[in-house]
Amino acid sequence: MTGQRPYTPGELTVHHSPDELGKVTRALRATGRKINLVPTMGALHEGHRTLIRRARRIPGTVTAVSIFVNPLQFGPDEDFHRYPRPLETDLDACRAEGVDLVFNPSPEAMYGTGATTTVHPGQLGAELEGAVRPGHFEGVLTVVAKLLNIVRPDFAYFGEKDYQQFVLVKRMVTDLNLESAIVGVPIVRDADGLALSSRNAYLSEDERRAALAIPAALAAGAMAGPDGPAAILAAARAVVEAESGLRLDYLELRARDLGPAPENGKARLLIAARAGRTRLLDNIQLVVGHGVDENDDTYNPAAGLPRER
Ligand code: AMP
Repeated sequence: MTGQRPYTPGELTVHHSPDELGKVTRALRATGRKINLVPTMGALHEGHRTLIRRARRIPGTVTAVSIFVNPLQFGPDEDFHRYPRPLETDLDACRAEGVDLVFNPSPEAMYGTGATTTVHPGQLGAELEGAVRPGHFEGVLTVVAKLLNIVRPDFAYFGEKDYQQFVLVKRMVTDLNLESAIVGVPIVRDADGLALSSRNAYLSEDERRAALAIPAALAAGAMAGPDGPAAILAAARAVVEAESGLRLDYLELRARDLGPAPENGKARLLIAARAGRTRLLDNIQLVVGHGVDENDDTYNPAAGLPRER
């Protein structure tokens, strides 16, 4: 490589300005490197770190992690202000995982004062999470579109923990002709089965115990798979209803693209419930009935990925 080096390999650099980061990733792309982006809201845990490790398995790539608590995706009565922001600890985690670039903009740097344009998610954005959190996915897709435009990553990584978000981002990239490949990463769980989440830190001991009924319900639903949709929902619901410390927001069986559930084949069982004031999400892939369409890998997270190291 000739001329000025735009960055020093192996050293984490932190950017606050979208323009500045865009210049760096453009310069890196011009050197022939591929760019990974892992969008997060920070308070990084093993789930986020798994996304980062997945990104780093692709040879010849530079990995950028964005840490931005996006005001646009929080409702007025939600936890935007109390959402944890342990930036120094997060930067240590990024260094430990070999991240090259961190993007940590302020809300002003992202939205200025007069931004009015947003991305509308369509009907699916008003279902499931969207029915409980109006405007949430409009906020998510708007920030993800901006991040993809700023960084122009070859690959962007999303956890299946937020499965509806993953599906909607994939849809947006197709619908808006964006160039990044969206890679899904399976859910990372604690030893007791609870899906890792930055919001788990809010749970009291009793709430956490109650929350374990969520993965237990999904497991029961998956086991009832061969008996069909009604049996799946009944089995999962029975587990949640036996736990008085949980309030169910929704429990739904859907196709993998979140359309209507198939009578036969792969599907997703999705749940949201509250333990105290904390909303928890989880989901599982399962097989309904006995038939599986092995050729349909639309939502196979590994489909279309380049070779690993
Ligand atoms: P968040 O910081 O909560 O916005 O999450 C950032 C990314 O990490 C999203 O793509 C999440 O789906 C993903 N993520 C969060 N928790 C997990 C988990 N337990 N397993 C897999 N991915 C996760």
